[in-house]
Amino acid sequence: MATLELILDFKRCELWSWEPHLTGHQTARLVKQRMTPRGNIRVAYLGPRDEEPESLVVVKMARDNEVATLEKEYRIYMDRLAHLQGSVVPICYGLFRGKVDGERFACMLLEYCRGTVTYSLAEQNDQIMLGVCKLHQAGILHGSLDDMHHIVCSNIGVRIVDFSDVIETHRCPGAGPLLMHPNGTWVAGSSGRGCPELMLMEKIYGLLDRRR
Ligand SMILES: [Zn+2]
Repeated sequence: MATLELILDFKRCELWSWEPHLTGHQTARLVKQRMTPRGNIRVAYLGPRDEEPESLVVVKMARDNEVATLEKEYRIYMDRLAHLQGSVVPICYGLFRGKVDGERFACMLLEYCRGTVTYSLAEQNDQIMLGVCKLHQAGILHGSLDDMHHIVCSNIGVRIVDFSDVIETHRCPGAGPLLMHPNGTWVAGSSGRGCPELMLMEKIYGLLDRRR
């Protein structure tokens, strides 16, 4: 068993995880900055209990009837996306559960990915296309990748986030970046056979790439 003391706007909440790979007792102190208007995704300092927490993490929180959705997202991170953590998707440090103000509460800790990008736009586009292809190879269709909020570009690379509403049974044989000619036509052999999300991503991120 592992515990997490979450310091949330001057409240101290005791949370637990029974995942076998998690042990120890930690504290997460949320900072004021909110990463979403609703405030359910925030940054925190994390560290061993009874020490000043120093490592930055992202905390995604859910209450009451939102908890099941967060639990589903956690399972996708741990089962389907385990091999892509730290490269295509953020590292997931665990899901902790408890009660806050009498309501069911859960929070998931994720790798903090912010900081100035040091690579070129072409390299960034390459990483995005490669990352999306790896998701599809893992059978995950994200569905909302035209929203830039779900692609985080930072000094440690590109990470695709938010798997709360994805399709987990996507079949995408040979998922790989398609080739689009700069004049907007598909290169022979790819047109019509690509999956809609990969074709959309190629339109947004692939074209500039080919113009290098
Ligand atoms: Zn696909």
